[in-house]
Amino acid sequence: MAKISINLATGSFQKEEIIVGIDLGTTNSLVAFINPDKNPQVINDSGKGILVPSVVYFNNQNETVVGNEAKEFLTTDPSNTIFSVKRLLGRSYKDVAEHKDIFSYKIIDDDSDSLVKIQAGNRFYTPIELSAEILKELKARAEHALKTPVNRAVITVPAYFNDSQRQATRDAGKLAGLDVMRIVNEPTAASLAYGIGLDPSQQKTIAVYDLGGGTFDVSILQIQNGIFEVLATNGNTYLGGDDFDRAILNHWIEKNNLDIKVLSEDNILMQTLRLQAEAAKKALSTQNLYNEKVGEIWCTLDNQTFEQLISAKVEETITACKNALKDADLTASDIDEVILVGGSTRTPFVKQAVEDFFGKKPQDNINPDEVVALGAAIQADVLAGNRSDILLLDVTPLSLGIETMGGLMDVIIARNSKVPTKAGRQYTTSVDGQVNMKISVYQGERDLVKENRKLAEFDLKGIPAMPAGLPKVDINFLLNADGILTVQAIELRSGVKQEIEITPSYGLSDDTVEKMLLDSIEHAKSDVEQRMLIEARSEGEQLLYTAERFIEKHAEHLTAEEIAKTKVHIEALKSALATQEKDTILKKADELNEFTRPFAERVMDAAISTAMKGKKIE
Ligand code: ADP
Ligand code: MG
Repeated sequence: MAKISINLATGSFQKEEIIVGIDLGTTNSLVAFINPDKNPQVINDSGKGILVPSVVYFNNQNETVVGNEAKEFLTTDPSNTIFSVKRLLGRSYKDVAEHKDIFSYKIIDDDSDSLVKIQAGNRFYTPIELSAEILKELKARAEHALKTPVNRAVITVPAYFNDSQRQATRDAGKLAGLDVMRIVNEPTAASLAYGIGLDPSQQKTIAVYDLGGGTFDVSILQIQNGIFEVLATNGNTYLGGDDFDRAILNHWIEKNNLDIKVLSEDNILMQTLRLQAEAAKKALSTQNLYNEKVGEIWCTLDNQTFEQLISAKVEETITACKNALKDADLTASDIDEVILVGGSTRTPFVKQAVEDFFGKKPQDNINPDEVVALGAAIQADVLAGNRSDILLLDVTPLSLGIETMGGLMDVIIARNSKVPTKAGRQYTTSVDGQVNMKISVYQGERDLVKENRKLAEFDLKGIPAMPAGLPKVDINFLLNADGILTVQAIELRSGVKQEIEITPSYGLSDDTVEKMLLDSIEHAKSDVEQRMLIEARSEGEQLLYTAERFIEKHAEHLTAEEIAKTKVHIEALKSALATQEKDTILKKADELNEFTRPFAERVMDAAISTAMKGKKIE
């Protein structure tokens, strides 16, 4: 293997290898790089275009199709065509249940706090795997266009993404064969694309207004000494250009006196009209009138009517801007720059509304579909150490985390995080009456702790005996500028607390760091696969535990036949657990769940739902 040297300060490789920037969007995704002229450029893979629709289709051989081609199956085979997967990343069924009607595919309802899964054909997919399909397509396009292997990337996420959503994005990258150098906030990337924040002496407050296909968010950022601080975010994850298309469609239905009932049964016509509506909307970004015919249906729209149709939605985005400013304790006049992001900001009415609200012309020179990916490419270039003009802050060269169920590494402070830094997460117990919790701290990039470097271990003692899932244990990591890590564990209900100090760099040579990084890259794919199997097993085991206890405890509410059938499902899950096959385990777990769901509803036992919560430490 070629010798690669690593810059310890940045954790980055000093080798002429391209690091791409990726905007993994809800509607569209794209990839950019820094071209030989040192300018960011989006990748256009020979005629395939720049935007990859974030849609994944599974045919009946479980083969995947991604992007434009997949989009065509939205009408013909909706239950196997997965769109908007970004909304599901790092989320539990409970998080998305309220909006489940917008998804035409099956999201597994296990009524728990564990992460959602999606069924297509007879296979189960996590949003991580689905996002990885999109990332693989972007990687392949970049490799094809640049004629060189692409193994490293910076990926962007919305500023409001929580820790679990960021971790899921990282995992998706890993699974796609990418070493994710950093997860960057979309508004930060957009500012970088406009050159804002590159000069460390610059101090600015900016607003980034991002209206995409299905989501809207506004972020207020403060930039100081090259550090981007998110002061506030606001928005609506179910508002975007799709709503504009729908409003146009409804308008045409009304104007043409179409029978909604007849129409809603004609998927193909509906889809044709919806695409026509999107085309009309896009046309009106540069002209005043749109006039087409679909069969006998007139598809006519002028700008004035369009504005009336969307004004309530646009007003909603402005209210969100107001709220974001309020949360940041600022007024519109405190904002130095306003940046427009997202395809829907091309609509002149939207642009004008933003300008009117902030009282200044927003930055819109850069294509709003591309701006985030371009900024990600700049960030990648900075991490690669190619920009001497930019101050590089100290970063941690390896990830720091703790061991969770099944020997998994749960990263709390990710590699390449700037120091000083602080991060934490909440955990719970896995067994009823558990009074001690062992906390093992590890360093490294592998998914299984046994492959990582153990730094310390301690017990949090004196947790009051409670049913499994009830204790709330916060684990906080604080890494100071001198490289000293303080790990604190506190059980919130009782206040019991324990704390240790570690120096993660102690005894760590450059060679070790290099070896650990190279190993993690080599094993990335199999690591993520193992992790998913362990997670499926943990969930399956937890479900067994709950189901067995349930039929024991509530036998009087069940018929003999129901108990017998439940036992059959339980046995099936047990055999599935023995196979070590993720899909088999998930399938049997789903069947047991589906079968017992009505019982649980019947009994309405609060304990059962709490027993199924969250990640657990053994
Ligand atoms: P996301 O960030 O959610 O992936 P994008 O930023 O790619 O989304 O925005 C997609 C949305 O932008 C779609 O609703 C699309 O119709 C809309 N859009 C694209 N081009 C235009 C245009 N010229 N005028 C108005 N809307 C547009
Ligand atoms: Mg976007």
